[in-house]
Amino acid sequence: MRRSGWLSANRVLSMLPKCVVRKGDTVVVIAGKDRGKSGKVLSVFQRERKVTIEKINIIKRHTKPNQQNRQGGILEREAPIHLSNVMIYCATCQKPVRVGSKTMADGSRVRVCKKCQQLIESPERT
Ligand SMILES: [Zn+2]
Repeated sequence: MRRSGWLSANRVLSMLPKCVVRKGDTVVVIAGKDRGKSGKVLSVFQRERKVTIEKINIIKRHTKPNQQNRQGGILEREAPIHLSNVMIYCATCQKPVRVGSKTMADGSRVRVCKKCQQLIESPERT
C-alpha cells in the first residue's frame, strides 16, 4: 500500500508543468507588445513561471534620489513576462520552436527541438 502511495505522489510531481526555459537561453516573445522580438533570458522565476529577457518588456520606473542613486530619475529595467508568452529559439530552424526532452545514453536528460531534434544547449546551468 505504501508503495502505491509513492507512485501516485510521483505521478502528481511529473504532471506539474516544467520550466523548459533556462537562464541564458535565447527566446522569442510570441505575445504582447514585444511580440516577435528575441533576447537572452536574464532570470527565471520558477514559482511564478515568468522570465525576464534582455531588452524585452522594458518598464520605466521613476525613482527618487536615495542612498544608491543620488540623482534619482528614470530607471529602465526588464519586467518579467509569463513563460506562456515566450518560446525557445532554435538556431537550426531559425525560428521559435516547441521543446521536447530526450534521455541520453548516460541517463542525463537534455532538451531537444521538436522540429529538427537538435539539442538545445543550456548556456548557464543553475
Ligand atoms: Zn530546430
